[in-house]
Amino acid sequence: MTNAVSLLLSFFFKRTVSVVIDLHCHTDCSDGSDAPVDVVRLATELGLEALAITDHDTLDGYDMARKQSDLAGCSLICGVELSTHSSRCSRSVHLLAYFFREPGSEFRSWLQELREGRCERNILLQQRLQSLGMEISWSELEAISGKQLGRPHFARLMVKKGYAASLQDAFDRYLAEGRPAYVERNEPALEEAVERVAAAGGIATLAHPARITRDPHTLRSLVADLIPYGLNAIECFHPEHSAEDTNHWLAIASELDLAVTGGSDYHGSYKPDIRLGTGRSGTLHVPSSLFLELKRRFAETVVNA
Ligand code: AMP
Ligand code: FE
Ligand code: FE
Ligand code: ZN
Repeated sequence: MTNAVSLLLSFFFKRTVSVVIDLHCHTDCSDGSDAPVDVVRLATELGLEALAITDHDTLDGYDMARKQSDLAGCSLICGVELSTHSSRCSRSVHLLAYFFREPGSEFRSWLQELREGRCERNILLQQRLQSLGMEISWSELEAISGKQLGRPHFARLMVKKGYAASLQDAFDRYLAEGRPAYVERNEPALEEAVERVAAAGGIATLAHPARITRDPHTLRSLVADLIPYGLNAIECFHPEHSAEDTNHWLAIASELDLAVTGGSDYHGSYKPDIRLGTGRSGTLHVPSSLFLELKRRFAETVVNA
């Protein structure tokens, strides 16, 4: 390939992808495979204009990444993903929180409490698996997990040791809600989590709503009821959403005057079919206009930053 052609291609490539952002990804500070510094490097290589690190229950990945000097024009946003319970859904409901101004000590202490609850759950979960005849030791779990142990790590070890055929099989037969190795942890109520995010100055965002329901009427009612607690946004763009889902969620956001977000939910090699920025098979496209709109709507928080 001649230099001129490769330059042209790289220019075109940058032009096409530089209008993309990714507001949902995980690092090895929760259940992703990549170090925060590597996720940010990848984001800059891809020409993403904004990246939010949204690890489960921790800001550690963001804290590490923000020290990185060369972000090459990529705005790094502080984020977190919380698992909550709701009487309207048998599965955990995930809530994303974004902070233009980093949250204070009260919110960070609350995240610490959630992580302690996770540790207590993990101890019971390991005992439960042993009592079901699976030899799953702490040293093996520590070897397979990053900085925070979660059910996906248990699932990986179960596959590795031949107790499950796949990660999904481990969840379906043992780890999912209602299955024999399921142990509840101290997940906050959805309303409480929304209130705490709002009180900490965050943008409370309902994550991947298609996991809750695909029925727009059910979702509209759930979302409308969360607005008084401080819900700000809906994650309309996500690899698990069909085009029809996305259109439904966009219509609900527009009707209820909520902001719109989107992201790949990248977990590195642990979910190898999901690419940072572009999701599954390059089908995700989260326009940077959403980031501008978030800044416009939540300008007060930005000005205070
Ligand atoms: P934890 O936070 O340790 O309870 O693990 C929750 C994570 O496990 C979620 O973020 C999902 O990635 C995964 N997970 C939870 N439920 C299921 C399920 N039924 N099937 C597959 N993965 C699941
Ligand atoms: Fe995850
Ligand atoms: Fe999630
Ligand atoms: Zn996620």
